[in-house]
Amino acid sequence: MAKGFTLETYPWVYIAKYNEDEVWTEEFIENPHKTPAEEAAMSPEELTAILAKRNSFPQLPLVNYTTQYGLGCFEGLKAFPQKDGRLRLFRPDENGARMSASMEGLMMPSFPVDKFLEASKQIVRLNQDCGFFPEYDSEWEKNNYIAGHSIYLRPFTYSEPGIGLGVSKHPWVIIVATPVGAYFAPGNSKAVVTNKSRATPNGTGWIKCSSNYVVPILAKKEAMNNGFMEAIFLDSTEHKYVEEGSSCNIFFKLKNGTLITPELGDTILPGINRKSVITLASDMGIKVEERKVPINEVMSDAVEAFVTGTAAGVSYLESITYMEKTTVFNGGKQGELTTDLQKKLKDIQYGAIADERNWMFDI
Ligand SMILES: *Cc1c(COP(=O)(O)O)cnc(C)c1O
Repeated sequence: MAKGFTLETYPWVYIAKYNEDEVWTEEFIENPHKTPAEEAAMSPEELTAILAKRNSFPQLPLVNYTTQYGLGCFEGLKAFPQKDGRLRLFRPDENGARMSASMEGLMMPSFPVDKFLEASKQIVRLNQDCGFFPEYDSEWEKNNYIAGHSIYLRPFTYSEPGIGLGVSKHPWVIIVATPVGAYFAPGNSKAVVTNKSRATPNGTGWIKCSSNYVVPILAKKEAMNNGFMEAIFLDSTEHKYVEEGSSCNIFFKLKNGTLITPELGDTILPGINRKSVITLASDMGIKVEERKVPINEVMSDAVEAFVTGTAAGVSYLESITYMEKTTVFNGGKQGELTTDLQKKLKDIQYGAIADERNWMFDI
């Protein structure tokens, strides 16, 4: 049974390589596995051993631009079990387009969106065919699908061998799948503003690249060591405007009811959940503003705060601490608008309400 966000990769993996003839050679690989029931009955040591085999690709070079210099990008998207037994992907076209943009941003040949879509669907299908998929459980409906399971797809690039400074001209694109289990609301959703910088103007903040994760991981660790759950980044030039959480976009509901989120630019990652929440809130008649978000305005004027991302979904923040002062939102409890948006998004993803905008893709 999947617990939170762990690495228990499913057997089938997709690997494409941009070869010397400048075409993508695609391969689906079936890694060692037993049936899910047999694996569930294994000892922890046996399970660790088989999972290690599934995560081992001797054909990939050890020393390359990705492992040495962080020249790699990735995506994260989910397939959700539906009430009628199907598995459907949430907005994979958007992930495909962003992956292609990220690769271009890193001066790699870009990966065609149609290949991304087909491979994402096929990898879900192949794993499903050998029993690796979460079964829909109507128990999830009781609590807004907070306990719902899904399949997390992680597409990423991996460079050809190299050690001198260079860009990847013949990368691999790999897609692995891993189950994501019940998400239990954390006991602590306190956030703290970090003085570290995630992204700089004219840098790579808009690209979903591995190297962008170094500073947020450090900032989040530091925040957690100090009793917080999340770190919030301000702009790196003026240190005045809110930009993002550690790896998610951020929203605030103001006293006047308006929902605000930092406007996109080269220091903000264009999140697909961000985009979806803006659409859903607008559809609900909420006024949404994408603009600069001064931290001082948030500290004095916000009544709800939440972050968005594929892993986080819509997750509320109970408070923000900035310069030794703490603002608690809605008495520390999840606000009504946050709950409405979280529920709406999950209802669409699990097929509980009509998918009016064609966000869900059959596999
Ligand atoms: C992936 C990511 C997000 C969230 O994007 P989604 O498409 O909603 O998952 C937000 N910020 C950063 C820095 C990210 O890497």
